[in-house]
Amino acid sequence: MTCPYCNNVMEEGIIQSPQELSWKKGIKRPAFGRAGFHEDSLVLSKLSLMKGSAVKALLCRKCMKVIIDCANKESDLNYC
Ligand SMILES: [Zn+2]
Repeated sequence: MTCPYCNNVMEEGIIQSPQELSWKKGIKRPAFGRAGFHEDSLVLSKLSLMKGSAVKALLCRKCMKVIIDCANKESDLNYC
């Protein structure tokens, strides 16, 4: 895939964490707690106690943007 910002070729990789990976709306500082405790949040990767969490992501090294395809459930490496 090419970067939608600068048309550079993007690199495939993953973002991983020992905690649940989520996007939380309107929070300007790190907030503790699962996404389920935050209104309108989005889980990027469910937590596995054995594996942590991981989501596929594309990186553009030219403009340093990272893109996660949240519409594709298989982006979450713990999705089954
Ligand atoms: Zn770019």
